[in-house]
Amino acid sequence: MGTRLVVDRSRCIGSGNCVLVAADLFDQDDTLGGVILLPPAQDELTAQDAAAALEAVGRCPAGALRVVPTASSSAHAT
Ligand code: SF4
Repeated sequence: MGTRLVVDRSRCIGSGNCVLVAADLFDQDDTLGGVILLPPAQDELTAQDAAAALEAVGRCPAGALRVVPTASSSAHAT
């Protein structure tokens, strides 16, 4: 099962840590500095990108990033 990135832009404080860790996956809004997912981060992640994404998740001071399994079934208890 693959993984993908989920961003909560309402939590992002524009620290830029994610860009420093994984410039291939993240960029920042020119005006407010909010995180932007680049094309490789908008779909299922490669193994290499997933490792970088997980590092970015760990370094995000705002808890705005998550790496989640790609949806493959509807068996999702809440
Ligand atoms: S590390 Fe987190 S708070 Fe900083 S720019 Fe990236 S998503 Fe936003």
